[in-house]
Amino acid sequence: MTEDRANPLKPAKPKHIILNSHQTRDSANLVPIQWGAANPQQRGPIIGSLRSLKYRNVIGTHAGSYGVYRALAVASGVLDPTHKADLTDTSPVVQLGPHPSWSDPDKIVSLDPFGTLAGQSFGEYDTDKYDILPTIAITKAHINIPELRDEIAQGRLHVDGKLLKPDGSLVVTKAAIDPVWYLPGLAKRLNIDEWELRRVLFQQTGNMFPELVTRPDLHVFLPPIGGTTVYIIGDPAAITNPDLPLAVRVHDECNGSDVFGSDICTCRPYLVHGIEVCVQTAQEGGAGIIVYCRKEGRALGEVTKFLVYNARKRQEGGDRADAYFLRTECVAGVQDMRFQELMSDVLHWLGVTRIDRLVSMSNMKYDAITNSGIQVVERIAIPPELVPADAQVEIEAKKAAGYYSENGGLMGEELGQVKGRDY
Ligand SMILES: [Zn+2]
Repeated sequence: MTEDRANPLKPAKPKHIILNSHQTRDSANLVPIQWGAANPQQRGPIIGSLRSLKYRNVIGTHAGSYGVYRALAVASGVLDPTHKADLTDTSPVVQLGPHPSWSDPDKIVSLDPFGTLAGQSFGEYDTDKYDILPTIAITKAHINIPELRDEIAQGRLHVDGKLLKPDGSLVVTKAAIDPVWYLPGLAKRLNIDEWELRRVLFQQTGNMFPELVTRPDLHVFLPPIGGTTVYIIGDPAAITNPDLPLAVRVHDECNGSDVFGSDICTCRPYLVHGIEVCVQTAQEGGAGIIVYCRKEGRALGEVTKFLVYNARKRQEGGDRADAYFLRTECVAGVQDMRFQELMSDVLHWLGVTRIDRLVSMSNMKYDAITNSGIQVVERIAIPPELVPADAQVEIEAKKAAGYYSENGGLMGEELGQVKGRDY
């Protein structure tokens, strides 16, 4: 309005804003979502695309946090908001599932088990009106990790030419998964009242999604958070075969170590050890799974993480194992916001019922997995020789806090003696 007043010759351009993200006030005209139904047609499609404004049956928008980049692309004029995805040849390269867990509304609450399916799988819906987009994509890749070449040279891994190639590259099947939250199930899993969950989600996202509190009839939320990637090593069919061994590492993103080799923590060495165990298990005829969750810095974010690093290094007495968690709590108010209770969903999506080798020392992950009904046979700690010198603080602090280790952890004064580098 100000602009028009400043330039009276310019014709007024109506730019009204509709505060509701859904055109209808109730869900009577929307395709119902029957979470936990045995087949996709009964369950109903997840319609989060803004191209289907009239038919959207969820809160939030497609593609998690990338919806914000889509907004930039539309705002800057490089993306037509009505663009219809051409999904020719994009379907999964291997079929995973369906598994019995897919139709158990309590087993999976944070992803769409039928997420690989798009418009054409829901034949009765006109794809011009109902923009049904996949929230899961499955492809294949050759991955090349330098440490694997070292392990081949040392004789710890052997080249079989099929799974592990002479140049050290590893053949994998991988799946990218966007979050899809079924709010009643999520509330139940976390033991929170659903209304309370909706109210706090609304408030703590700066009132981004009013429908959380105005549309209790919409039960599915596409949260603007990072997703999960699954790497399957070996035959995916072996995952659900009870006669074959399965190795699993669930890894939460740590970009500084995973990609850049920062030595303050054990993340990359433990991840690589997990891949090694997965390769060995696959070469025995079984399979290995690496689940990679975008939960940087225990889901506190990388800025918080770096602030904590500074606080740890600068505190009186230097970086010490006995003050490791305290420094995080001072900055973030909590030690951890990963909510591992939701992590088991991806394992149930893959049909996992037993893990022969769980490559993790985390008691939180172990408890989440076993409480969800998956049996864990053996837990594999990081070999001590793989722990970087500056990461002794982290590993000893975690062991003292309940992480799994074969010979227990240090306590009291001894714990305070474990010190890290001064920058
Ligand atoms: Zn790390």
